Amino acid sequence: MSDRKRTYVVLLGVPGAGKGTQAKLLEQATGLPQVSTGDIFRYNLKNQTALGVLAKGYMDQGSLVPDDVTIRMVEDRLQMPDCAKGAIMDGFPRNLVQATAFEQMVAPYGGVSVAPLINVEDDETIRRITGRRTCRTCGTVYHLIFNPPLVEGVCDKDGGELYQRDDDYEATVRNRLFVYYKQTAPLVGYFYAKGLLTEVDGSKSIDAVQADLLALVKCK
Ligand code: ADP
Ligand code: AMP
Ligand code: ZN
Repeated sequence: MSDRKRTYVVLLGVPGAGKGTQAKLLEQATGLPQVSTGDIFRYNLKNQTALGVLAKGYMDQGSLVPDDVTIRMVEDRLQMPDCAKGAIMDGFPRNLVQATAFEQMVAPYGGVSVAPLINVEDDETIRRITGRRTCRTCGTVYHLIFNPPLVEGVCDKDGGELYQRDDDYEATVRNRLFVYYKQTAPLVGYFYAKGLLTEVDGSKSIDAVQADLLALVKCK
């Protein structure tokens, strides 16, 4: 093992559990970058790259983008200079193939540090996702009721327009939940068996969940 120990936090939880919200706050609090595969795909889509166009077909259906493409994209991202101390993983790994690949990527740096599971009931996640609004410019996430911006439709940070993601309508959300239970939920057992899983009560306020997560990350 390299002597360069890094911190890799793998946020787990159903779509809408609050991974992106918490990852952004953890990034501010720890300086470790948020690595969100969903955000990277959306960025590519906005810029009409080949990767973005490919990903769109899968995202619109709520299915997973193929592993080879996704894994290569994360490998590239983790080699960027801002990831020199580790990363907050948001939305990756999302199945067992990705989890195994990720463990190989981070093995030289001490492996996965902790895998917090943000627990929220399914009805609540559907309420959260259908009310989610995202900034077109910086990707900051709001909620119409639970976390509204100061001015309706406008990002507090940069004045960007808030929009509803194409995959945040109820039919697609249900398919994403289905995909989660079939493909991603096994990761809960996977990380538990490795002694890395810690459950966090995601029904609490955004600030309370953040405090719980920060306490976990700080002792790693
Ligand atoms: P994920 O990345 O897991 O899909 P998000 O972070 O995008 O989830 O959160 C989904 C929605 O729920 C967003 O609209 C967000 O503002 C809202 N949200 C996140 N955490 C909480 C919380 N603890 N309480 C209430 N709403 C929340
Ligand atoms: P998210 O922003 O995490 O809600 O992800 C939005 C969509 O991007 C998902 O429904 C998938 O289509 C795609 N996606 C994000 N992360 C992954 C991943 N790790 N593997 C495959 N597809 C992904
Ligand atoms: Zn913004």
